[in-house]
Amino acid sequence: MQRDDLPLITPIYIKKSMAMRPPTDPVYYLLTSNCLYLCRNHPHYQSCVPAPRWPTELAPHAASLAARFPPIPQDQFERICGFFGHMSEEHRAEAIVLLAWDSIDQMVRTIVPQQVSAVSGGNWGRGYPIGVKYRFPQNLPKHWTVFSDIHSHCTMAAYASQTDQHDEEHSPGLHVVVGHIQREPPQVHVEAVVDGARFRLPASTVLADYGGRRTDFPAEWLERVSVETLDGTPVWPAPAGQDTWKARE
Ligand SMILES: [Zn+2]
Repeated sequence: MQRDDLPLITPIYIKKSMAMRPPTDPVYYLLTSNCLYLCRNHPHYQSCVPAPRWPTELAPHAASLAARFPPIPQDQFERICGFFGHMSEEHRAEAIVLLAWDSIDQMVRTIVPQQVSAVSGGNWGRGYPIGVKYRFPQNLPKHWTVFSDIHSHCTMAAYASQTDQHDEEHSPGLHVVVGHIQREPPQVHVEAVVDGARFRLPASTVLADYGGRRTDFPAEWLERVSVETLDGTPVWPAPAGQDTWKARE
C-alpha cells in the first residue's frame, strides 16, 4: 500500500488545532478528533455537518488479524492439560496458566500464576466450578513477554464467557479456553484480542499437534493454587489486595 498525496475529488483537511483557518474550497471533508465532517462554502452559507458517508474515492477496509504468535509446544500443552485435568478431577476447580516468549532462549515458557479457584460446595458432596482469580506475576525476566493465557472450564464447554471477555479486553494476545477436560482430546477455544477487538482463531493456528494424552506436570505448580468453596466463609472474591487480581470464569 503506497502513501498517496494526490488530491481527492473532494479534499480532506485534518483539523489539528482549534485555531485552524477554515479552508476556502467549495466542498471539503474535515477529519477531526470526534468525527468526519462534510463542509461547504456556499454563497448563502458556510456549513459543517457529520459526513453521511466516507469519501467514495477510498477503498473499503475491514478489521483483520494475521496471527504470528509463537506456536504452543505440544509437550507444554499436554502438561497444562494434565494440570487442568487434576484440578477438575480432584477439586472440580478451574485453573489458569500464562505463556511467555523467551526472546533469549527463543522458546515458550509456561508460568503458573498465584491463583484462587472458587467452587460451589454442592449439596451432594460434589461442587462445581465458579471461576478463578489470579495475580499477574511481577518481576518476570525482562526478555519474557507474556503473549497468551490458557484457562480451563473443567467439564463444561470451552468459550469466552462475559467475565473472560471483560478481563481480556485490555490484555492483547492469545486467550485460550480448554473445556470438556474429561475428554481426550479436550475442547479448545482460541481467540486473540488486539486493541479491544476479538478474533476467533482455529486451534490449529497456535497449537502444535496434540498427542491426545495429558501428561504429568511439575508438583510445584500446585503450590501456587488454592481452592475455596463459596459455602461457609465467603472467600470469593476475597484474596488480599484483590484489586490487583484478574478473574476468569
Ligand atoms: Zn472462561
